[in-house]
Amino acid sequence: MPCIQQLPASVVNKIAAGEVIERPASLVKELMENSLDAGATRIDVSLEQGGSELVRVVDDGAGIPAGELPLAVASHATSKLVVADDLFRVRTLGFRGEALASMAEVSRLTLRSRPRDGDSGAEIEVAAGQASAVTPCGCPVGTAVEVRNLFFNTPVRRKFLRSIQTEVGHVSESFIRLALAHPAVHMTLKHNRRTVYELPPAGDWRERIGHFFGRELADDLLWVQSSDGDVRLAGYVGHPNQSRPNARMQYLFLNGRSIRDRSLSHALGEAYRGLLLTGRFPVSFLRIEMPPELVDVNVHPTKLEVRFQDGGRLYSQLLGTLRTRFLTTDLTHRLNPAHAPEAAQAHDPARAAQLRGELVDWAKGQVAGWQGGEGTSLEQGAAAGLMDGGGQDPGQMGPPAQPAAGTAGFGASSLAMPAGFGRAQQGRFELNMPEPAGEPLKLNRLDPARAAAAHRPHSAAGAKEAADAGPANGRTGRVAALQVHNRYLLAESEEGVLVIDQHALHERILYEQLRETVLAGTLESQALLVPEPVDLSAAEAAAVLEQRQLLARLGVVVEPFGGDTVLVSSYPAMLRGSGVADILRRVVEHLVGNGRPPDERDLVDELLHMFACKAAIKAGDRLSADEIEALLQQRHLARDTHHCPHGRPTALLFTREDLDRQFKRT
Ligand code: ADP
Ligand code: MG
Repeated sequence: MPCIQQLPASVVNKIAAGEVIERPASLVKELMENSLDAGATRIDVSLEQGGSELVRVVDDGAGIPAGELPLAVASHATSKLVVADDLFRVRTLGFRGEALASMAEVSRLTLRSRPRDGDSGAEIEVAAGQASAVTPCGCPVGTAVEVRNLFFNTPVRRKFLRSIQTEVGHVSESFIRLALAHPAVHMTLKHNRRTVYELPPAGDWRERIGHFFGRELADDLLWVQSSDGDVRLAGYVGHPNQSRPNARMQYLFLNGRSIRDRSLSHALGEAYRGLLLTGRFPVSFLRIEMPPELVDVNVHPTKLEVRFQDGGRLYSQLLGTLRTRFLTTDLTHRLNPAHAPEAAQAHDPARAAQLRGELVDWAKGQVAGWQGGEGTSLEQGAAAGLMDGGGQDPGQMGPPAQPAAGTAGFGASSLAMPAGFGRAQQGRFELNMPEPAGEPLKLNRLDPARAAAAHRPHSAAGAKEAADAGPANGRTGRVAALQVHNRYLLAESEEGVLVIDQHALHERILYEQLRETVLAGTLESQALLVPEPVDLSAAEAAAVLEQRQLLARLGVVVEPFGGDTVLVSSYPAMLRGSGVADILRRVVEHLVGNGRPPDERDLVDELLHMFACKAAIKAGDRLSADEIEALLQQRHLARDTHHCPHGRPTALLFTREDLDRQFKRT
């Protein structure tokens, strides 16, 4: 056996590089962390070819004196720890002193810097671990690091790099995590000179969250906060109707560092137990601040995992904080609580009682008329809204909304009576009776003949659903349901009165049908006579072409057309009527959305949701009697008609007992 030898520094560094530098995203993370540690207020990141050709990070932080440049790129050299004990009270993102050395070992790195009090800058170059002399150069205050040709001297590792699109996805993920952890810092990300993100300093965390994930999600977040001794927990969690098919949108930050923690993820899941459908995951953006002595951050090479001194207590704090929040919040399903203009009114208990009274009056008239089979159009002077539980603004802490009898906000079933019934609508409450049969069907998707053909033998549950779906059909002369506001259908069920969201229900039905079709083979697609070119960004075009086969299975056929343009030659027949470019852009959103390389199953699922949503009848579409009937007949075909694919309810039930109680019959 060969004798034992001390490893040369370059081998040691290559080994360390293997742990710290896995791909371009690792470079971006380490360099941005250095910039943040240096107190930067602005960080600009640019990549070429997914970062494998170039990663450049420029900051306006404290800078490095020329004399210290060789140390900055030397291994185990750091300005962030002085004595060993500092390791147990780390207040900076870095402290190991090996990031720059590791990356310089496997690339060509240039470090250029000028300290705040220096009148000029200096630069050092390192290629495969060999450092040049320090040379003076002109540069602004701050530091710029360029890393070129990652893994050029370790070809085996270079082979492990994935497609440009995948690498950009990983970089975006790292970038998003740091940008969320440090909202006050101005950050930009460019790929091949195109801007991917431009983030001005955000005063409000929600603003930055909204920047990445959209306003709709940001507006629907619930604020939570608590303290336990020196441990502070604060942030946002998603309203249950914003759930996701995986846990990717759960962000956790500890003292400004993005971390992953199994135990805390579990606490999060527990807090939402009963509020989400199985297989759905909550969204969260949570920050924990605690004295650094209470946590060991030196247990993972990229510091993604940490060890809490009292993990159990933190678990309870998180679970308790969320549970309390949910218990004091009216989480009844609402259409779009954040945009409800009159939400404030509904918080007023007296007003809520009045509304309840109005609703009861209204319902009395409606139910009577409808059961009598009178097909006349009804008007009601009393103003009342059926939907929208009138919960409090999710973004604000406040007194709990008055829950309706028997309905605790927490754990309430989707079919429970909404708390407070609803709120007033301006103007008249108009009821549309279905149009007489024979009216041309403007929505071929709701073809009753097709619905009947698709009618499968009922299971016991299916039969019950069918019975629930409507009091009658055309043959008896009774209407299946009333359409109100061109968006809801009122139907009688065994248990009471159902208010159905026409779009949500149709979307659910289409989604289930689509899923079956796709599982069985290929979705019917419509070939274009003249294929249509669509201009995309380079990253988007790459993403689309990379997923060509999968898209073809979904009926979207694309080909490269040179540059960043792709040619669409077929698209799903069910989306007939939508613009081709529009469809492709929506597809692209899912491919590159949130900057992550999507998992194939999630992607198919997301695209099917999108198709279903696009093809479904909309709120605002007036339906004929036949269309209403077709929709209700298909209701039992959908496996879970209680929720649309986004997890929103498709129907609310006002039980007969509830009505009886309100009418003082019991
Ligand atoms: P660590 O961050 O763990 O200390 P690094 O190898 O990432 O190790 O950096 C080594 C040292 O170089 C840091 O301790 C810091 O003093 C200096 N440094 C690196 N990047 C920057 C920067 N962007 N601005 C100022 N100083 C920097
Ligand atoms: Mg560092």
